[in-house]
Amino acid sequence: MRRERFIAGNWKMNKGVSESLEFLDKFSVLLEQGEDIPDAVSVAIFPQAVNIVPMADHIRSRGVNILLGIQNVHWKPSGAFTGENSIPCAIEAGAKLALVGHSERRHIFREDDLWVSSKYLACLEQGVEPLLCVGETEEERNRGLTEDVIERQVSAVFSHDPGIMAEQERILIAYEPVWAIGTGLNATPRDAGECCAFIRELLSGLGGPSLADRSLISYGGSVKSSNSEDYLEQEEIDGLLIGGASLDPDEFYRIVCDAF
Ligand code: PEP
Repeated sequence: MRRERFIAGNWKMNKGVSESLEFLDKFSVLLEQGEDIPDAVSVAIFPQAVNIVPMADHIRSRGVNILLGIQNVHWKPSGAFTGENSIPCAIEAGAKLALVGHSERRHIFREDDLWVSSKYLACLEQGVEPLLCVGETEEERNRGLTEDVIERQVSAVFSHDPGIMAEQERILIAYEPVWAIGTGLNATPRDAGECCAFIRELLSGLGGPSLADRSLISYGGSVKSSNSEDYLEQEEIDGLLIGGASLDPDEFYRIVCDAF
């Protein structure tokens, strides 16, 4: 049986409140005119943190089946961490998910594996579902290190404490090769599928085959409506994490429909 589908838009540092609500209005009209999102498909948006409260209110009032997530969190629930986002506050605002280890956080903001695993653990402890992003740089790929990097990034989060895995209903991971993010370059659907299969094998080794089978592994990196179906056709790719193409409601809707 097919696993659930997971389609998420990462808006990065784009869209203010009015543009975000306009997007939701357009997106919900498209859903009303077409098909509603089936239960087996989760659709999520990661807007800027300041937009979560108005978007959550709007989603509630329009009855749209979209989850909201926060793009970055700190592991401490509160304190002197200027500019960071507290998980309990994000939950209160309406976030159900949190991105952890996105390549822009790892490479621009120098977050290392220890930070990523601290954030991941904090999400579980404080009650928001983490979406862990992993992936190699172009240089690492050219040196044949793709699997080594993925293994290191996955193990950094799960191998210290197998108890982390036992507590989870499912694990959400996005395989996002750094060289494909925002560049217009794509991993081929076959390569992306193989990396997702490799991640599932790692999860199986760390947490057992049943947890690995329930987990949802997505691909991200320059996905558009013109190639989304090619990725979703791959047996091992359960979903997509989309940056640029998720900013346009028509384009995002076309991609979401490929998952139905
Ligand atoms: C992302 O931000 O996670 C991403 C995949 O971006 P893009 O789709 O623009 O490559």
